[in-house]
Amino acid sequence: MLFGTSGIRGIYGKEVTEDLALEVARLYADADLVLGRDTRKSGLSLAKMVSSGTRQKNKNVYDIGIAPTPTVALATKKRKSNGIMITASHNPPEYNGLKLFKNGRELSKNVEKEIEVRYGKEMDFAAESKGEEFADDFAIEDHKSLIKSLVDERLIEKKRPKIVVDCNGAGSVITPYLLRELGCRVISLNSEADGFNRPSEPNEKNLQDLMKIVSAVGADLGIAHDGDADRAVVVDETGAMLPLDTQLAIMIENEMDGNVGKVISTVEASLMIREVVESKNGKIEITPVGSAHVSEKLEKDGACFGGEPCGEYVFEKGVHTPDGILTAAKFVEIFCKNGNLSRLREKYKSHFMLREKFRCEGKDKYGLVDGIKGQIKTSGKIRNDDGIRVDEEDGWFLIRASGTEPLIRLTMEYKEKKKLEKMAEYLKNLIIKSI
Ligand code: MG
Repeated sequence: MLFGTSGIRGIYGKEVTEDLALEVARLYADADLVLGRDTRKSGLSLAKMVSSGTRQKNKNVYDIGIAPTPTVALATKKRKSNGIMITASHNPPEYNGLKLFKNGRELSKNVEKEIEVRYGKEMDFAAESKGEEFADDFAIEDHKSLIKSLVDERLIEKKRPKIVVDCNGAGSVITPYLLRELGCRVISLNSEADGFNRPSEPNEKNLQDLMKIVSAVGADLGIAHDGDADRAVVVDETGAMLPLDTQLAIMIENEMDGNVGKVISTVEASLMIREVVESKNGKIEITPVGSAHVSEKLEKDGACFGGEPCGEYVFEKGVHTPDGILTAAKFVEIFCKNGNLSRLREKYKSHFMLREKFRCEGKDKYGLVDGIKGQIKTSGKIRNDDGIRVDEEDGWFLIRASGTEPLIRLTMEYKEKKKLEKMAEYLKNLIIKSI
């Protein structure tokens, strides 16, 4: 299988090679291409091959260079073109990958399948190479302009909040500049746009520096991205990271303001998310995990917002792929409207949650999950379009194979701690026995 939940991803030089980049680019070249990459060292040579493969098929390449995934997506919308973003998102530096776009959206699973079927079968030596390569110097400015039009610039300029940003990747070329242009006082951390300074995943363990600096300099909030900046996570003014469910709930409430309608989330959505949407008289629609599903459903249902708990948010008025830069600007606006996030977060009630992962190297992780499904005893509602999600009256759980790693993940949430512990013991046993 070439494509996972989020494009092609693997270890550089082993699973993701220059040859693969060249061939995928050739197979995908049915239109001109916007090309971007995150800050991984292997990005440049993969980009050269993607460009070469596209030009061999007589299509032009518009190269943005280092840019966030949503910037690339936006440029494909403007040019009505294809796009390839070279990134492995939050994976470690030895990984890289290719994410394919068309007209502002991630490529549909059907087109990915077509490429997969043709991969390795089409020998094409008679390349004409009439395509040309151009530098795209406007994509980042275009993205900044779009974001400025979607937040209250006046309010931000008046408040002049102090923000610490920890980009550590492609966000380095846009987020600190955008926030400064909006009138924020910006302190920039790990924003050299050259490799990574910390592990790419923006979690509590990897954001210790950011958390310390936010409270040490008396900043109003901190923002961190993953490697390709489609994600943003937020640290409050005390230096504490917002729980990801709370962060999502705050954003949903902000986006639903005066906008009663639908919100999209995935099978990983917590009770808190449901409660917030329902308190605003809205309706939540659930999709399988993955931003392509969220964006597709958002367009189909005309929803105002779609968000995953990992910090990938899609805004109806933005580009229809997760946008960590817009998320960052929106959180600055949320602070300017509501004041300190440490106070704001108290409003959202957390239930008892548990997240665990089980390693299953060398095994068929999807088969394992299927096998577990047959053994679960529950009176709850089961859905199985992506892993097994069971909704019971007082909580829910999800058993799901990771899309990018050899892991099975268990996520659980219950209103009572005792029930959570009881169910956790039952389910953990079931999973361990199956592996
Ligand atoms: Mg990402």
